[in-house]
Amino acid sequence: MSGFVYLVGAGPGDPGLLSARALELIGAADVILYDRLIPATALDGARADAELLFVGKEGRGPSVPQEQTEALIVEHARAGRTVVRLKGGDPFVFGRGGEEALTLRAAGIPFEVVPGITAGVAACAYAGIPVTHRGLASAVALVTGHEDPDKEDTAIDWPALAAFPGTLVFYMGVGRLAEIATALIAAGRPESEPAAVIENGTLPAQRTVSATLATIADTVREHEIRPPSITVVGPVAALAAELSWLPPRPLAGRTVAVTRARAQASELARRLQAQGAQVVQAPVIRVRTLPGPPLDPSPYDLICLTSPNGVAALFERLAAGGRDSRSLAGARVAAIGPGTARALAERGISADIVPERFVAEALLEALAAVPVGRALVARASEAREVLPDGLRARGATVDVLALYETVAEPLSAHALELARSADYITFTSSSTVRYFLDAVASPLGAGSSGAVGASPLSSATRIVSIGPVTSATLREHGLEPHVEASSHDIDGVLEALLADASTRVSEQATP
Ligand code: SAH
Repeated sequence: MSGFVYLVGAGPGDPGLLSARALELIGAADVILYDRLIPATALDGARADAELLFVGKEGRGPSVPQEQTEALIVEHARAGRTVVRLKGGDPFVFGRGGEEALTLRAAGIPFEVVPGITAGVAACAYAGIPVTHRGLASAVALVTGHEDPDKEDTAIDWPALAAFPGTLVFYMGVGRLAEIATALIAAGRPESEPAAVIENGTLPAQRTVSATLATIADTVREHEIRPPSITVVGPVAALAAELSWLPPRPLAGRTVAVTRARAQASELARRLQAQGAQVVQAPVIRVRTLPGPPLDPSPYDLICLTSPNGVAALFERLAAGGRDSRSLAGARVAAIGPGTARALAERGISADIVPERFVAEALLEALAAVPVGRALVARASEAREVLPDGLRARGATVDVLALYETVAEPLSAHALELARSADYITFTSSSTVRYFLDAVASPLGAGSSGAVGASPLSSATRIVSIGPVTSATLREHGLEPHVEASSHDIDGVLEALLADASTRVSEQATP
Protein backbone atom coordinates (compact mmCIF):
# COMPACT_ATOMS: atom_id res chain seq x y z
CA MET A 1 0.00 0.00 0.00
CA SER A 2 1.35 3.40 -0.93
CA GLY A 3 1.27 6.39 1.37
CA PHE A 4 0.41 9.93 0.46
CA VAL A 5 2.70 12.90 -0.14
CA TYR A 6 1.89 16.53 0.62
CA LEU A 7 4.06 19.17 -1.03
CA VAL A 8 3.54 21.97 1.46
CA GLY A 9 4.55 25.62 1.40
CA ALA A 10 5.48 26.95 4.84
CA GLY A 11 5.39 30.63 3.89
CA PRO A 12 8.19 33.17 4.06
CA GLY A 13 9.27 32.83 7.70
CA ASP A 14 6.75 34.51 10.02
CA PRO A 15 5.03 31.53 11.71
CA GLY A 16 1.72 33.41 11.52
CA LEU A 17 1.86 33.05 7.74
CA LEU A 18 1.72 29.23 7.81
CA SER A 19 -1.63 28.18 6.40
CA ALA A 20 -4.23 26.31 8.44
CA ARG A 21 -3.87 23.39 6.01
CA ALA A 22 -0.09 23.35 6.44
CA LEU A 23 -0.40 23.24 10.24
CA GLU A 24 -2.99 20.46 10.06
CA LEU A 25 -0.75 18.33 7.83
CA ILE A 26 2.38 18.98 9.92
CA GLY A 27 0.44 17.64 12.90
CA ALA A 28 -0.66 14.53 11.02
CA ALA A 29 2.55 13.52 9.20
CA ASP A 30 4.54 10.34 9.84
CA VAL A 31 7.57 11.87 8.13
CA ILE A 32 8.46 15.50 7.45
CA LEU A 33 11.27 16.37 5.05
CA TYR A 34 12.04 20.05 5.57
CA ASP A 35 14.23 22.85 4.26
CA ARG A 36 16.19 25.52 6.07
CA LEU A 37 13.98 28.50 5.20
CA ILE A 38 10.86 27.30 7.02
CA PRO A 39 9.59 29.22 10.08
CA ALA A 40 11.58 28.36 13.21
CA THR A 41 8.49 27.06 14.99
CA ALA A 42 6.97 25.26 11.98
CA LEU A 43 7.72 21.80 13.37
CA ASP A 44 6.45 22.47 16.92
CA GLY A 45 3.13 20.85 16.12
CA ALA A 46 4.62 17.68 14.64
CA ARG A 47 3.74 14.41 16.35
CA ALA A 48 6.26 13.34 18.96
CA ASP A 49 6.85 10.10 17.04
CA ALA A 50 7.11 11.75 13.61
CA GLU A 51 10.39 11.39 11.78
CA LEU A 52 11.85 14.84 11.02
CA LEU A 53 14.43 14.89 8.25
CA PHE A 54 16.41 18.00 7.36
CA VAL A 55 17.14 17.95 3.63
CA GLY A 56 18.17 21.57 3.12
CA LYS A 57 21.38 23.45 3.00
CA GLU A 58 23.24 24.34 6.23
CA GLY A 59 24.74 27.82 5.95
CA ARG A 60 27.06 27.80 2.97
CA GLY A 61 27.62 24.08 3.35
CA PRO A 62 26.53 21.37 0.97
CA SER A 63 22.87 20.58 0.53
CA VAL A 64 21.28 17.17 0.27
CA PRO A 65 21.23 16.47 -3.49
CA GLN A 66 17.77 16.85 -5.04
CA GLU A 67 17.73 13.25 -6.36
CA GLN A 68 18.41 11.99 -2.86
CA THR A 69 15.56 14.08 -1.42
CA GLU A 70 13.20 12.76 -4.08
CA ALA A 71 14.35 9.18 -3.48
CA LEU A 72 13.63 9.63 0.24
CA ILE A 73 10.14 10.99 -0.41
CA VAL A 74 9.35 8.02 -2.69
CA GLU A 75 10.85 5.51 -0.26
CA HIS A 76 8.81 6.77 2.72
CA ALA A 77 5.60 6.99 0.65
CA ARG A 78 6.11 3.42 -0.64
CA ALA A 79 6.44 2.28 2.95
CA GLY A 80 2.86 3.45 3.44
CA ARG A 81 3.67 6.63 5.39
CA THR A 82 2.06 10.04 5.26
CA VAL A 83 4.84 12.29 4.02
CA VAL A 84 4.99 16.07 4.29
CA ARG A 85 7.60 17.75 2.13
CA LEU A 86 7.85 21.18 3.77
CA LYS A 87 9.43 24.07 1.90
CA GLY A 88 9.87 27.79 2.47
CA GLY A 89 7.41 30.07 0.66
CA ASP A 90 5.43 28.32 -2.05
CA PRO A 91 6.50 24.85 -3.21
CA PHE A 92 6.01 25.72 -6.89
CA VAL A 93 7.88 29.03 -6.85
CA PHE A 94 11.62 28.32 -7.16
CA GLY A 95 11.08 25.46 -4.77
CA ARG A 96 11.65 22.48 -7.06
CA GLY A 97 8.19 21.31 -6.05
CA GLY A 98 7.33 20.77 -9.70
CA GLU A 99 10.21 18.33 -10.09
CA GLU A 100 9.14 16.44 -6.99
CA ALA A 101 5.56 16.25 -8.22
CA LEU A 102 6.74 14.84 -11.57
CA THR A 103 8.78 12.20 -9.78
CA LEU A 104 5.77 11.25 -7.66
CA ARG A 105 3.51 11.05 -10.71
CA ALA A 106 6.07 8.83 -12.47
CA ALA A 107 6.22 6.61 -9.38
CA GLY A 108 2.43 6.41 -9.22
CA ILE A 109 2.32 8.00 -5.76
CA PRO A 110 -0.67 10.25 -5.02
CA PHE A 111 0.05 13.77 -3.83
CA GLU A 112 -1.52 17.09 -2.87
CA VAL A 113 0.05 20.53 -3.25
CA VAL A 114 -0.49 23.08 -0.47
CA PRO A 115 0.46 26.55 -1.71
CA GLY A 116 2.39 28.86 0.58
CA ILE A 117 2.82 32.60 0.66
CA THR A 118 5.82 33.22 -1.54
CA ALA A 119 8.71 35.33 -0.23
CA GLY A 120 8.74 37.65 -3.23
CA VAL A 121 5.26 38.91 -2.44
CA ALA A 122 5.35 38.59 1.38
CA ALA A 123 8.72 40.29 1.97
CA CYS A 124 7.56 43.18 -0.21
CA ALA A 125 4.29 43.47 1.70
CA TYR A 126 6.17 43.54 5.03
CA ALA A 127 8.39 46.29 3.63
CA GLY A 128 5.40 48.38 2.51
CA ILE A 129 5.83 47.58 -1.18
CA PRO A 130 2.73 46.48 -3.11
CA VAL A 131 4.07 44.46 -6.06
CA THR A 132 1.25 45.77 -8.27
CA HIS A 133 -0.23 49.24 -7.90
CA ARG A 134 -2.73 51.14 -10.01
CA GLY A 135 -0.84 53.50 -12.29
CA LEU A 136 2.61 52.21 -11.25
CA ALA A 137 2.69 48.51 -12.10
CA SER A 138 0.10 46.35 -13.77
CA ALA A 139 2.28 43.25 -13.96
CA VAL A 140 4.85 41.51 -11.80
CA ALA A 141 7.57 39.05 -12.81
CA LEU A 142 9.13 36.56 -10.41
CA VAL A 143 12.70 36.00 -11.58
CA THR A 144 15.57 33.85 -10.37
CA GLY A 145 18.74 35.80 -9.76
CA HIS A 146 20.64 32.55 -9.52
CA GLU A 147 21.58 32.67 -13.18
CA ASP A 148 24.88 34.33 -13.99
CA PRO A 149 24.06 37.21 -16.37
CA ASP A 150 27.55 36.84 -17.90
CA LYS A 151 26.93 33.24 -18.86
CA GLU A 152 26.81 32.77 -22.65
CA ASP A 153 23.71 30.57 -22.66
CA THR A 154 21.84 32.23 -19.78
CA ALA A 155 18.19 31.18 -19.56
CA ILE A 156 17.18 34.75 -18.75
CA ASP A 157 16.40 36.99 -21.70
CA TRP A 158 17.76 40.27 -20.27
CA PRO A 159 16.47 42.57 -23.05
CA ALA A 160 12.98 41.07 -22.63
CA LEU A 161 13.18 41.41 -18.87
CA ALA A 162 14.38 45.01 -19.12
CA ALA A 163 11.42 45.74 -21.40
CA PHE A 164 8.94 43.99 -19.07
CA PRO A 165 6.16 46.50 -18.27
CA GLY A 166 5.97 45.98 -14.54
CA THR A 167 7.69 45.08 -11.28
CA LEU A 168 10.66 42.69 -11.30
CA VAL A 169 11.10 40.55 -8.19
CA PHE A 170 14.39 38.65 -7.96
CA TYR A 171 14.84 35.61 -5.73
CA MET A 172 18.28 34.29 -4.72
CA GLY A 173 20.13 37.12 -6.44
CA VAL A 174 21.62 39.21 -3.65
CA GLY A 175 25.16 37.95 -4.24
CA ARG A 176 24.86 38.74 -7.94
CA LEU A 177 23.09 42.05 -7.59
CA ALA A 178 25.80 44.13 -9.26
CA GLU A 179 25.74 41.92 -12.36
CA ILE A 180 21.93 41.86 -12.43
CA ALA A 181 21.63 45.64 -12.19
CA THR A 182 24.32 46.16 -14.84
CA ALA A 183 22.65 43.68 -17.19
CA LEU A 184 19.25 45.37 -16.76
CA ILE A 185 20.67 48.85 -17.34
CA ALA A 186 22.66 47.67 -20.37
CA ALA A 187 19.45 46.22 -21.76
CA GLY A 188 17.61 49.50 -21.36
CA ARG A 189 16.07 49.66 -17.88
CA PRO A 190 16.49 53.25 -16.54
CA GLU A 191 19.34 53.79 -14.06
CA SER A 192 17.06 55.95 -11.93
CA GLU A 193 14.41 53.29 -11.46
CA PRO A 194 13.64 52.66 -7.75
CA ALA A 195 14.94 49.40 -6.31
CA ALA A 196 14.78 47.83 -2.85
CA VAL A 197 16.26 44.77 -1.19
CA ILE A 198 14.51 43.06 1.72
CA GLU A 199 16.61 40.80 3.93
CA ASN A 200 14.90 38.21 6.16
CA GLY A 201 11.48 39.33 4.99
CA THR A 202 8.66 38.80 7.55
CA LEU A 203 11.18 37.63 10.18
CA PRO A 204 12.10 39.61 13.31
CA ALA A 205 15.43 40.48 11.69
CA GLN A 206 13.85 41.97 8.56
CA ARG A 207 15.79 44.89 7.01
CA THR A 208 15.04 46.89 3.90
CA VAL A 209 17.43 49.05 1.91
CA SER A 210 16.24 51.32 -0.88
CA ALA A 211 18.14 52.96 -3.72
CA THR A 212 18.02 53.18 -7.50
CA LEU A 213 18.94 50.49 -9.97
CA ALA A 214 22.28 52.24 -10.48
CA THR A 215 23.15 52.40 -6.78
CA ILE A 216 21.36 49.42 -5.20
CA ALA A 217 24.34 47.03 -5.40
CA ASP A 218 26.61 49.48 -3.54
CA THR A 219 23.92 50.17 -0.95
CA VAL A 220 23.50 46.45 -0.33
CA ARG A 221 27.26 46.01 0.07
CA GLU A 222 27.48 48.96 2.47
CA HIS A 223 24.77 47.54 4.71
CA GLU A 224 26.13 44.00 4.44
CA ILE A 225 22.79 42.62 3.32
CA ARG A 226 22.93 38.82 3.22
CA PRO A 227 20.67 36.02 1.98
CA PRO A 228 17.82 35.27 2.20
CA SER A 229 16.91 38.46 0.42
CA ILE A 230 14.46 39.61 -2.22
CA THR A 231 15.26 42.36 -4.73
CA VAL A 232 12.41 44.49 -6.14
CA VAL A 233 12.91 46.71 -9.17
CA GLY A 234 10.21 49.11 -10.28
CA PRO A 235 8.41 52.32 -9.33
CA VAL A 236 6.52 50.48 -6.56
CA ALA A 237 9.83 50.04 -4.69
CA ALA A 238 9.71 53.75 -3.84
CA LEU A 239 6.41 53.29 -1.96
CA ALA A 240 8.34 51.70 0.93
CA ALA A 241 9.26 55.23 2.04
CA GLU A 242 5.57 55.99 2.57
CA LEU A 243 4.05 52.62 3.38
CA SER A 244 6.61 50.89 5.57
CA TRP A 245 4.64 49.86 8.64
CA LEU A 246 6.82 47.51 10.74
CA PRO A 247 7.73 49.10 14.09
CA PRO A 248 11.46 49.84 14.30
CA ARG A 249 13.48 47.00 15.77
CA PRO A 250 16.69 48.29 17.31
CA LEU A 251 18.67 45.05 16.95
CA ALA A 252 17.71 44.36 13.31
CA GLY A 253 20.71 43.20 11.34
CA ARG A 254 22.73 42.29 14.44
CA THR A 255 23.72 38.81 15.51
CA VAL A 256 23.68 37.99 19.21
CA ALA A 257 25.13 34.76 20.60
CA VAL A 258 23.43 33.18 23.62
CA THR A 259 25.72 30.84 25.55
CA ARG A 260 23.48 29.79 28.43
CA ALA A 261 21.99 26.31 28.70
CA ARG A 262 19.44 25.49 26.02
CA ALA A 263 16.73 24.91 28.62
CA GLN A 264 17.17 28.46 29.95
CA ALA A 265 17.98 30.23 26.68
CA SER A 266 14.55 30.47 25.12
CA GLU A 267 13.31 33.50 27.06
CA LEU A 268 16.42 35.59 26.31
CA ALA A 269 16.47 34.39 22.69
CA ARG A 270 12.81 35.23 22.18
CA ARG A 271 13.19 38.72 23.58
CA LEU A 272 16.32 39.42 21.55
CA GLN A 273 14.49 38.27 18.42
CA ALA A 274 11.54 40.50 19.22
CA GLN A 275 14.00 43.41 19.08
CA GLY A 276 15.13 42.23 15.65
CA ALA A 277 18.32 40.37 16.57
CA GLN A 278 19.40 37.26 14.77
CA VAL A 279 20.11 34.90 17.64
CA VAL A 280 22.99 32.42 17.50
CA GLN A 281 22.17 29.55 19.84
CA ALA A 282 25.46 28.46 21.34
CA PRO A 283 24.60 26.64 24.57
CA VAL A 284 27.95 25.70 26.10
CA ILE A 285 26.53 24.31 29.32
CA ARG A 286 23.83 21.97 30.44
CA VAL A 287 22.37 21.60 33.89
CA ARG A 288 22.39 18.11 35.38
CA THR A 289 20.34 17.41 38.48
CA LEU A 290 22.33 15.45 41.05
CA PRO A 291 20.79 12.36 42.58
CA GLY A 292 20.33 12.46 46.34
CA PRO A 293 18.16 11.39 49.26
CA PRO A 294 14.71 12.91 49.92
CA LEU A 295 14.89 16.24 51.72
CA ASP A 296 13.30 16.94 55.08
CA PRO A 297 13.25 20.74 55.46
CA SER A 298 11.81 20.79 58.98
CA PRO A 299 15.11 21.53 60.82
CA TYR A 300 15.62 24.81 58.93
CA ASP A 301 14.34 28.29 59.75
CA LEU A 302 15.87 29.75 56.56
CA ILE A 303 16.06 28.23 53.08
CA CYS A 304 18.08 30.09 50.41
CA LEU A 305 17.58 29.43 46.71
CA THR A 306 20.05 30.86 44.21
CA SER A 307 18.55 29.89 40.83
CA PRO A 308 15.36 28.60 39.17
CA ASN A 309 17.22 25.30 38.58
CA GLY A 310 17.76 25.04 42.30
CA VAL A 311 14.05 25.54 42.94
CA ALA A 312 13.09 22.78 40.49
CA ALA A 313 15.62 20.38 41.99
CA LEU A 314 14.63 21.25 45.58
CA PHE A 315 11.01 20.37 44.88
CA GLU A 316 12.10 17.08 43.33
CA ARG A 317 13.94 16.23 46.55
CA LEU A 318 10.88 17.21 48.59
CA ALA A 319 8.57 15.13 46.37
CA ALA A 320 10.93 12.15 46.70
CA GLY A 321 9.99 12.10 50.39
CA GLY A 322 6.28 12.58 49.71
CA ARG A 323 6.43 16.30 50.63
CA ASP A 324 5.23 19.43 48.83
CA SER A 325 5.30 23.19 49.36
CA ARG A 326 3.51 22.88 52.72
CA SER A 327 6.65 21.35 54.20
CA LEU A 328 8.35 24.78 53.81
CA ALA A 329 5.76 26.49 55.98
CA GLY A 330 8.01 26.70 59.02
CA ALA A 331 10.96 28.39 57.29
CA ARG A 332 11.67 31.77 55.76
CA VAL A 333 12.43 31.39 52.07
CA ALA A 334 14.98 33.67 50.37
CA ALA A 335 15.48 33.97 46.61
CA ILE A 336 18.54 35.54 45.02
CA GLY A 337 16.54 37.29 42.28
CA PRO A 338 13.21 37.62 40.51
CA GLY A 339 13.71 34.55 38.25
CA THR A 340 14.20 32.37 41.32
CA ALA A 341 11.27 34.07 43.06
CA ARG A 342 9.10 33.38 40.01
CA ALA A 343 10.07 29.70 40.05
CA LEU A 344 9.05 29.59 43.73
CA ALA A 345 5.79 31.41 43.05
CA GLU A 346 4.92 28.81 40.41
CA ARG A 347 5.04 26.27 43.24
CA GLY A 348 2.91 28.31 45.58
CA ILE A 349 5.72 29.88 47.62
CA SER A 350 5.98 33.63 47.84
CA ALA A 351 9.63 34.41 48.70
CA ASP A 352 10.10 36.28 51.98
CA ILE A 353 13.36 37.93 50.93
CA VAL A 354 14.49 39.04 47.43
CA PRO A 355 17.45 41.46 47.37
CA GLU A 356 17.56 44.46 45.04
CA ARG A 357 20.80 43.39 43.38
CA PHE A 358 20.90 39.75 42.40
CA VAL A 359 24.24 38.62 43.84
CA ALA A 360 25.08 36.59 46.94
CA GLU A 361 26.51 39.66 48.75
CA ALA A 362 23.21 41.50 48.35
CA LEU A 363 21.22 38.51 49.55
CA LEU A 364 23.41 38.32 52.64
CA GLU A 365 22.81 42.01 53.26
CA ALA A 366 19.07 41.61 52.83
CA LEU A 367 19.21 38.83 55.45
CA ALA A 368 21.05 41.01 57.97
CA ALA A 369 17.93 41.69 60.05
CA VAL A 370 16.58 38.14 59.79
CA PRO A 371 17.29 35.91 62.79
CA VAL A 372 18.86 32.65 61.57
CA GLY A 373 19.44 29.51 63.62
CA ARG A 374 19.87 26.79 61.02
CA ALA A 375 19.96 27.58 57.31
CA LEU A 376 19.86 25.51 54.16
CA VAL A 377 21.61 26.88 51.09
CA ALA A 378 20.33 24.89 48.12
CA ARG A 379 22.41 25.50 45.00
CA ALA A 380 24.80 24.24 42.31
CA SER A 381 27.72 22.00 43.27
CA GLU A 382 30.28 24.61 42.22
CA ALA A 383 29.34 28.02 43.57
CA ARG A 384 30.87 30.84 45.55
CA GLU A 385 30.98 30.47 49.36
CA VAL A 386 29.95 34.08 50.05
CA LEU A 387 26.49 33.20 51.31
CA PRO A 388 27.22 30.15 53.53
CA ASP A 389 30.39 31.78 54.94
CA GLY A 390 28.56 35.03 55.65
CA LEU A 391 25.70 33.26 57.44
CA ARG A 392 28.16 31.18 59.50
CA ALA A 393 30.02 34.34 60.44
CA ARG A 394 26.75 35.52 61.96
CA GLY A 395 26.59 32.40 64.08
CA ALA A 396 24.17 30.35 62.01
CA THR A 397 24.52 26.65 61.36
CA VAL A 398 24.56 26.26 57.60
CA ASP A 399 24.03 23.16 55.47
CA VAL A 400 24.96 23.46 51.82
CA LEU A 401 22.96 21.16 49.58
CA ALA A 402 24.35 20.65 46.07
CA LEU A 403 21.31 19.95 43.92
CA TYR A 404 22.69 20.20 40.42
CA GLU A 405 25.88 20.70 38.51
CA THR A 406 26.80 22.47 35.34
CA VAL A 407 28.43 20.33 32.67
CA ALA A 408 29.81 21.09 29.21
CA GLU A 409 27.43 20.84 26.28
CA PRO A 410 29.23 19.96 23.05
CA LEU A 411 28.87 22.71 20.46
CA SER A 412 29.09 22.13 16.71
CA ALA A 413 32.05 23.79 14.98
CA HIS A 414 29.53 25.77 12.94
CA ALA A 415 27.68 27.15 15.98
CA LEU A 416 30.98 27.97 17.66
CA GLU A 417 32.19 29.90 14.62
CA LEU A 418 28.94 31.87 14.43
CA ALA A 419 29.15 32.69 18.14
CA ARG A 420 32.79 33.83 17.91
CA SER A 421 32.02 36.25 15.11
CA ALA A 422 28.62 37.52 16.32
CA ASP A 423 28.07 41.24 16.85
CA TYR A 424 27.33 40.52 20.52
CA ILE A 425 28.00 37.55 22.77
CA THR A 426 26.12 37.25 26.05
CA PHE A 427 27.50 35.60 29.18
CA THR A 428 24.92 35.05 31.89
CA SER A 429 27.12 33.23 34.43
CA SER A 430 30.75 32.48 35.14
CA SER A 431 30.27 28.92 33.95
CA THR A 432 29.15 30.10 30.50
CA VAL A 433 32.45 32.01 30.26
CA ARG A 434 34.58 29.04 31.31
CA TYR A 435 32.84 26.48 29.13
CA PHE A 436 32.76 28.79 26.13
CA LEU A 437 36.52 29.29 26.37
CA ASP A 438 37.00 25.53 26.77
CA ALA A 439 34.95 24.96 23.62
CA VAL A 440 37.06 27.50 21.72
CA ALA A 441 40.29 25.88 22.92
CA SER A 442 39.23 22.41 21.82
CA PRO A 443 36.40 22.61 19.30
CA LEU A 444 34.49 19.48 18.36
CA GLY A 445 35.99 17.58 15.46
CA ALA A 446 39.07 19.81 15.29
CA GLY A 447 41.41 17.12 16.62
CA SER A 448 44.59 18.69 17.95
CA SER A 449 44.36 21.74 15.71
CA GLY A 450 42.07 23.67 18.06
CA ALA A 451 42.20 27.42 18.32
CA VAL A 452 44.65 27.32 21.24
CA GLY A 453 46.37 30.67 21.50
CA ALA A 454 44.10 32.26 18.94
CA SER A 455 41.83 35.06 20.13
CA PRO A 456 38.58 33.48 21.36
CA LEU A 457 36.38 36.17 19.81
CA SER A 458 36.43 38.36 16.73
CA SER A 459 37.76 41.83 17.60
CA ALA A 460 34.45 43.40 16.55
CA THR A 461 32.37 41.22 18.89
CA ARG A 462 30.94 43.11 21.89
CA ILE A 463 31.01 41.13 25.12
CA VAL A 464 27.92 41.40 27.34
CA SER A 465 28.11 40.32 30.97
CA ILE A 466 25.17 39.82 33.32
CA GLY A 467 26.98 41.30 36.31
CA PRO A 468 30.19 41.82 38.30
CA VAL A 469 30.84 38.16 39.11
CA THR A 470 30.65 37.10 35.46
CA SER A 471 32.70 40.17 34.48
CA ALA A 472 35.42 39.18 36.95
CA THR A 473 35.57 35.70 35.42
CA LEU A 474 35.85 37.27 31.95
CA ARG A 475 38.74 39.48 33.10
CA GLU A 476 40.51 36.51 34.70
CA HIS A 477 40.59 35.07 31.19
CA GLY A 478 41.81 38.26 29.58
CA LEU A 479 38.45 39.37 28.18
CA GLU A 480 37.15 42.84 28.99
CA PRO A 481 33.34 43.07 28.92
CA HIS A 482 32.06 45.96 26.82
CA VAL A 483 28.66 45.93 28.46
CA GLU A 484 27.68 44.97 32.01
CA ALA A 485 24.05 44.73 33.08
CA SER A 486 23.14 46.88 36.09
CA SER A 487 20.26 44.58 36.95
CA HIS A 488 21.70 41.05 37.01
CA ASP A 489 18.94 39.22 35.20
CA ILE A 490 17.57 38.81 31.68
CA ASP A 491 15.82 42.18 31.76
CA GLY A 492 19.09 43.79 32.71
CA VAL A 493 21.06 42.01 29.99
CA LEU A 494 18.54 43.06 27.35
CA GLU A 495 18.39 46.64 28.58
CA ALA A 496 22.19 47.02 28.64
CA LEU A 497 22.56 45.45 25.20
CA LEU A 498 19.90 47.74 23.70
CA ALA A 499 21.52 50.80 25.25
CA ASP A 500 24.88 49.82 23.77
CA ALA A 501 23.38 49.11 20.34
CA SER A 502 21.66 52.51 20.26
CA THR A 503 24.88 54.41 21.01
CA ARG A 504 26.65 52.46 18.32
CA VAL A 505 24.04 53.36 15.74
CA SER A 506 24.45 57.07 16.49
CA GLU A 507 28.24 56.71 16.34
CA GLN A 508 27.86 55.23 12.88
CA ALA A 509 25.45 57.97 11.85
CA THR A 510 27.79 60.80 12.79
CA PRO A 511 30.82 60.71 10.48
N1 SAH B 1 9.82 28.65 -2.60
C1 SAH B 1 10.33 29.86 -2.00
C2 SAH B 1 11.57 30.36 -2.70
C3 SAH B 1 12.75 29.45 -2.56
S1 SAH B 1 14.18 30.07 -3.33
C4 SAH B 1 9.22 30.91 -2.01
O1 SAH B 1 8.21 30.73 -2.66
O2 SAH B 1 9.38 31.94 -1.34
C5 SAH B 1 15.01 30.82 -1.97
C6 SAH B 1 15.01 32.31 -2.13
O3 SAH B 1 13.78 32.83 -1.68
C7 SAH B 1 16.04 33.02 -1.29
O4 SAH B 1 17.30 33.02 -1.92
C8 SAH B 1 15.46 34.40 -1.21
O5 SAH B 1 15.68 35.13 -2.38
C9 SAH B 1 14.00 34.10 -1.13
N2 SAH B 1 13.52 34.08 0.27
C10 SAH B 1 13.03 33.05 0.96
N3 SAH B 1 12.65 33.44 2.19
C11 SAH B 1 12.90 34.77 2.27
C12 SAH B 1 12.72 35.76 3.26
N4 SAH B 1 12.20 35.47 4.46
N5 SAH B 1 13.09 37.03 2.98
C13 SAH B 1 13.62 37.35 1.79
N6 SAH B 1 13.81 36.45 0.82
C14 SAH B 1 13.46 35.18 1.04
